[in-house]
Amino acid sequence: MTDFVHYLCKGCGKTATMKRTAFDWRCRKMSRPQYCGIQCMTTNLHTFLPRLDTSGGPDSCWDWQGRRCGRGYGIANFHNRPIWASRLSWILHNGAPEKGLHVCHRCDRPPCCNPSHLFLGSAAENNKDKQAKGRHTFGERVSGNILSYADVKEIRQALASGQKGIRLAEKYGVSPVTISAIKVGRIWNSRGSDYSIFEKGM
Ligand SMILES: [Zn+2]
Ligand SMILES: [Zn+2]
Repeated sequence: MTDFVHYLCKGCGKTATMKRTAFDWRCRKMSRPQYCGIQCMTTNLHTFLPRLDTSGGPDSCWDWQGRRCGRGYGIANFHNRPIWASRLSWILHNGAPEKGLHVCHRCDRPPCCNPSHLFLGSAAENNKDKQAKGRHTFGERVSGNILSYADVKEIRQALASGQKGIRLAEKYGVSPVTISAIKVGRIWNSRGSDYSIFEKGM
């Protein structure tokens, strides 16, 4: 009879299984298996969100629980390179920003990774915003191009019911590329499961 070894996946936290022979071979040749599969090995929202402190709800600051630099900004790993956790949060939710643009905090809290607290700006705009701070409130949107969790849920439902992506793009004020990225799960790809804690407030 085949013997199975159970271990905890570092990404999703679920119990993964591996055949005893494969497990022993991996431990001898390389190291203990840490992830259940390639899905959990690559950084995506599924592995990123559990590393944030989201206990305050959708409008609170989601502090990065991992490594931080001296000024308090979170440092994450993406494609084997260090990256600011807030920038990674933006990439996973909204896609990669254009070259030269900074991901800035509306809440002025360096470890925060809540996508609704982040906005894109040049270095000059970043400074201007700092002067104007106090006028902004948590969760407020500066422009229509940042979607909320509720919006993404609605878009997914609309797509499932056969609505055209181009119409949805007009309705939500985003580009059709963003809609198709949501459709194929390139961004907002937590499959809905990780946002379930916010369902009540939505
Ligand atoms: Zn896993
Ligand atoms: Zn914040």
